[in-house]
Parts: sequence; C-alpha cells; structure tokens
Amino acid sequence: MTQDRKTRRVMIGKVAVGGGAPVVVQSMTNTDTVDAAATAQQVYALWQAGSELVRITVNSPEAAAQVANIRDKLDAMGCDVPLIGDFHFNGHKLLAQYPDCAEALAKYRINPGNVGKGSKRDEQFGAMIETAIRYEKPVRIGVNWGSLDQAKMARMMDENAQLANPLSAEALMREALIQSALESAQQAEEIGLANDRIIISCKVSDVQDLITVYRELARRCDYPLHLGLTEAGMGSKGIVASTAALAVLLQEGIGDTIRISLTPEPGESRTREVVVAQEILQTMGIRSFTPLVTACPGCGRTTSTFFQELAQKIQRYLREQMPVWRSEYPGVENMNVAVMGCVVNGPGESRLANIGISLPGTGEVPVAPVYVDGEKTVTLKGAAIAEEFQALVEDYVKTHYSEGGALRSEHKVIPLKVAS
Ligand code: SF4
Repeated sequence: MTQDRKTRRVMIGKVAVGGGAPVVVQSMTNTDTVDAAATAQQVYALWQAGSELVRITVNSPEAAAQVANIRDKLDAMGCDVPLIGDFHFNGHKLLAQYPDCAEALAKYRINPGNVGKGSKRDEQFGAMIETAIRYEKPVRIGVNWGSLDQAKMARMMDENAQLANPLSAEALMREALIQSALESAQQAEEIGLANDRIIISCKVSDVQDLITVYRELARRCDYPLHLGLTEAGMGSKGIVASTAALAVLLQEGIGDTIRISLTPEPGESRTREVVVAQEILQTMGIRSFTPLVTACPGCGRTTSTFFQELAQKIQRYLREQMPVWRSEYPGVENMNVAVMGCVVNGPGESRLANIGISLPGTGEVPVAPVYVDGEKTVTLKGAAIAEEFQALVEDYVKTHYSEGGALRSEHKVIPLKVAS
C-alpha cells in the first residue's frame, strides 16, 4: 500500500470497519424482503460465502415488518452476520413505525439524495439520524450519482456559472457528490450522532470518476469509506470494471469495506459478488479468504481439457470446504494449490505451491507428479488422478493446519502467480 489512511473505527454489530481493521467484504440481497424465508436463505448463503455484512432492502411497511423475523431466522440458523437496512424515500417513517426493524438492523444506509425534497429533507434526514442515536446504530451516508440531491446540484451549477473559471460538468458532479456526503455527515454529527458511527460512500459507475472521487474523499475526511463501483454490470465487464477501480484505490490504502455490484447473469448465484470481492483483496495480497488455485492458461502443448476441469474442480472443492475449514483449520486460507498443464512450467510452479500437480501435456508420459512443500512426493496415473489429488489436498490441510499444524506451514511464503 502506498498510503496508510487513518480513519475512525466504526463497529457494525461485532464487525469493525476502519481504524486499521481488515477491509470488510459486504454484499446485498436481491430477494423481496417481504419474503422473509427467501431473504434469510440468501443472507445465509452470502454469509456462508464469506460476506461479513449483508444489506437488505427496506422499502415498504411490509418489508420493515419482516426485518426482525429475518434476524430471528438467521439467529436460529446460527448466522450472526450483521444486517444493514437500505432506506430510500420513506426510511424516516419505517424506522419510526417499526421499532423492531430499527432494533434488528445493525446499520442504516441513508441516501441524502433520497430522504426528501425541500423543507422536508432536513426534517426527514434528522428523524433517521435521531433513530440511529436512540438505537445506538451506525449509519452509512451513501451518496449515489444516480440519485444525487438535485436541488443541491442546481444550486452548485448556478454558482459555478458565475465563476471566472467554472468547473467542467463532470468535475462539478464529482464535487457535488463529495459535498453531499460530507455535509450530510456533518449534519448528522450536529444532530448528535457520534463521529465514530458514520461511514461514507460516493458511488459512481465510471472507473476514473470513482478513483477521483474517493481520492478526494480520503483527503477531506477521516470517516471509514465504503468502496464500490455502482451498477458495475454483468459478467466479465462488471468484474473487470470493479477490479480496475477498486485495485487502484485499495493500493493507495483507500477503502475500509467493499461491495462488488454485479448484475447476476441468469441463473448465477448472488454469492458471485462475494467471491469477486474476496478475490480482489486476496490476489492483491491484502487479505486471504480461501485457498487459491494457480493454474496455467493451457496452450497447444495440452489438447485435453482435463487440467482445466481439475483446476475448476479443486477450486470449487476448496471454496465449498471453507465454511467448516475457516474455524477448524486456521491459516488454511493462505494455502496455494497449483494445477498445471504440462512439464514446461508444471514442476516449477507446483514446487512453489503448498501442494501442486503437474499434469501430462500432449505426447508426454501419462503421469502426474505431485509436489508437497516443494518436494516431489508421489506420481499419479490412471483414471482416478482427480480424486487422488483431491484426497492429497485434503490430507495436506488436515496435517498442516489443524492444532498447531499451521505453524508447520508458516515458514513457507508462497507468491501468488499465474503461469503463462
Ligand atoms: S504449463 Fe505453460 S506450456 Fe504447459 S500447458 Fe500450461 S501454458 Fe502450456
């Protein structure tokens, strides 16, 4: 990191954000909150995937009436992930009319552009902040360029037009986002909310705008920052755009909690956004969550898809084990597994991993040497290579990460890299 940004620490339930705490991964449901069973199931799945905070929509009296029920269902499943309520337009009423909802939530997200118009704006914003004070909850002042306070924007445009050197429309929009967030935070403090109960976000959907806005926010305040590219999109576009933006900021020490706003592809699990967030942090060396598989891209030396299938199978297997392994095998999230396609880079890359396999390329002897902690241990062959390698990985985890086993693997620092 090139900058060690000092921020206040905000507690969301038992999860610390900012103040030197590890960058927190969060996500948001896309179920109808009125359907408490479906929402609780999705929150549970996101939590199992590793989401440390989960936001749910609270948009109607019917939704607000289910929030405590959702909390109860999660508690009954042994899931203690803090729930964040996402409020727009009517949050002041819902929080006042549904005290169980106000109590069950661990944080309120308030969008200053959507709290009310004209004279109602301050009154309704104030009502939400007073609820947060009463229930001792933190808030996120979450500005979004798609719902920027239009009255404020109009005022700023008028003022800008009078300047000798007016800002460009883009620069003015960025400044309006920042001012909206910081002025709302200041207003919340003036009402009486403690400054260690405020998190800020200013989300935009353009990568360069996001980087510019967050650099400026980081310079102008010490609130923890919730980082995310809004409306990132679907599939590889959403992942690449989010990664491009977040990587630059995280590298500069900016961002205390992140969310990847992916549009799920039809049939795709909502948990994808959690996996992407974790992989950004882990591949940057910021935090580890799940053992990662190093796999080569394949080339003309390997005409079989076997190594691709094995790499995918092992990565899926490792991820699926993590809900249990996380507590049983501390440190396992730092493990690296290599699955390589041929003898060119296979042995070298496998030696660098905690455990690696070098599969035979086209025309090579059909055997697959396995390397453990840099040493060749066994050579697999035949139809059951995949099952036997998975068993060896499982055995490695049990012997190296249980009850002090982690100490045995601590000496080995494995660089994350992908072979070409
Ligand atoms: S290790 Fe390199 S050379 Fe061998 S199959 Fe993979 S990409 Fe090709």
